[in-house]
Amino acid sequence: MNMQSPAAVSTATNPAGLRSGAAYLASIKQDGRRVYVDGELVADVTTHPAFREGARAMARLYDMAADPANRELMTYPSPSSGRPVLRAYQIPRSHEDLRAKRLAAEAWAEASFGLMGRTPDHVAGFFCGYAAVPEVFAVQGQAFADNVVAFYEHLRENHLYITYAIVPPQIDRGKPGHLQSDPTLYAGVVEERDGGIVVSGAQQLATGGVYSDYLYLSCIHPLQPGDENYAIGVAVPMNAEGMRLYPRRPYAAQATNDVDYPLSSRFDETDCFVVMDKVFVPWEHVFIYRNRDVCRDQWWKTPAHTYGNVQAQARYATKLRFMIGLAKRLNEMTGNDANPAVQVQMGELAALVAIVDTMMRAQELNATIDDKGVLWPCKSTLYAVMALQSEINPRAIDIIRELSGAAMISLPSSAADFDGTVTGPDMERFMRSGVASARDRYALMRMAWDFIGTEFGNRHQQYEKFYGGASFLVKQNMFRNYDFARATAMVDAALRLPPTLRE
Ligand SMILES: Cc1cc2nc3c(=O)[nH]c(=O)nc-3n(C[C@H](O)[C@H](O)[C@H](O)COP(=O)(O)OP(=O)(O)OC[C@H]3O[C@@H](n4cnc5c(N)ncnc54)[C@H](O)[C@@H]3O)c2cc1C
Repeated sequence: MNMQSPAAVSTATNPAGLRSGAAYLASIKQDGRRVYVDGELVADVTTHPAFREGARAMARLYDMAADPANRELMTYPSPSSGRPVLRAYQIPRSHEDLRAKRLAAEAWAEASFGLMGRTPDHVAGFFCGYAAVPEVFAVQGQAFADNVVAFYEHLRENHLYITYAIVPPQIDRGKPGHLQSDPTLYAGVVEERDGGIVVSGAQQLATGGVYSDYLYLSCIHPLQPGDENYAIGVAVPMNAEGMRLYPRRPYAAQATNDVDYPLSSRFDETDCFVVMDKVFVPWEHVFIYRNRDVCRDQWWKTPAHTYGNVQAQARYATKLRFMIGLAKRLNEMTGNDANPAVQVQMGELAALVAIVDTMMRAQELNATIDDKGVLWPCKSTLYAVMALQSEINPRAIDIIRELSGAAMISLPSSAADFDGTVTGPDMERFMRSGVASARDRYALMRMAWDFIGTEFGNRHQQYEKFYGGASFLVKQNMFRNYDFARATAMVDAALRLPPTLRE
């Protein structure tokens, strides 16, 4: 079995022992992962045109974290070795710890303008949550709790990158996994051996999977009696024999140049459909085994879901800041910035941006510390903003579309028109704005379109709608966590008011 550990090549080359961007790229280069594009196996994700810029973007995050100037921002001392390790792996025990994690997440998010969501700090948050409350896993036997803590420490000490696929494939949502036409369509256990288990089937949708060291395969969808084989939580190295990744259409490969596709060409994190074909998982990488209760409780009885989504909100707030910055520049270019009607629309956009930003901080302020000293971000605050994200985001995008008119469309077919002997002078003359050269205006409008209208931009709208689960599920989370008792107590008190004085 070829189960090369990514840790073997991730050992850092800098004095602090942190993983450099170069060490990260070397570790995922030709490591045996099986990524398929257009029916072909990708030989090297670090050089293939669909993935190389995404890989470089991830590598820059590692370089940022390894930079001594960012030591306090991006790292904290390992509780076991004292060496600096990624702050993403810190289990917060105070409000200040959570703030520090959020600042690190924002710094990484800013590196991609909030356009890469599943960077190495996202699923890291989930493993912090598991290691913080391993008792949830121990109900199956102490070995499972020990496995999850040991694996968390392995990730933390080696600065590793893990992504996840936790949703069954959308084959027939009308039936549970075990009643599908083939019970091995959904990823689940198909065999138990002395040394571990064998997993087969498919799972969606490992964003960033092309670039990560490990995949966490589990299930967040409600499982029914009979679905026990899918109630698992396992970590699999990306080069595990039998695992195949099918990324959706890679946008970087379609980006013909950096001016026309400034974002698609650089920040496509990819989303991968995962196929497991008899993948062997050793017991030490099995954290949940055929247990529907633990499979459910890992999300809701540990702080995992909140830690992961604090990172997601830091990333989203960063992206919204970039979005409103784009809108402001667009208005300046079109000469509409001082128009009072435009300012009203920008005021609405700013309100949406500020709500998300403020709610992110409120999760910290309203966080609580449990009797073991573990800090839990405030669930009702977190889920309140996540529940409305699928309405906030389209509204924000629509405001920018409204403000732009044809600004993002009344452009030539590509930046090459600036270089043609006939077309060049027309471009220089008519593409300009009152405040900027034609080339600068063109570059801004193409960036705005890449953000909103290209295939890359549109995938982002789907991402913001679904990355935290379908909105009806997030609203159910909100329902479960809102303090209705306090609200209804007021109503009851109002019903018990003493009689008013009557003449
Ligand atoms: C860009 C992108 C990136 C993603 N990245 C990841 C990732 O990194 N890891 C990962 O594991 N997953 C990821 N996901 C998958 C995501 O978690 C799922 O898409 C999400 O959980 C929704 O599941 P589904 O797509 O199967 O939709 P379904 O569950 O099939 O639901 C689709 C729609 O059907 C309707 N519907 C279905 N059931 C009900 C109901 N009971 N009540 C009301 N309405 C209902 C709703 O309108 C719902 O939005 C990503 C998704 C996208 C789009």
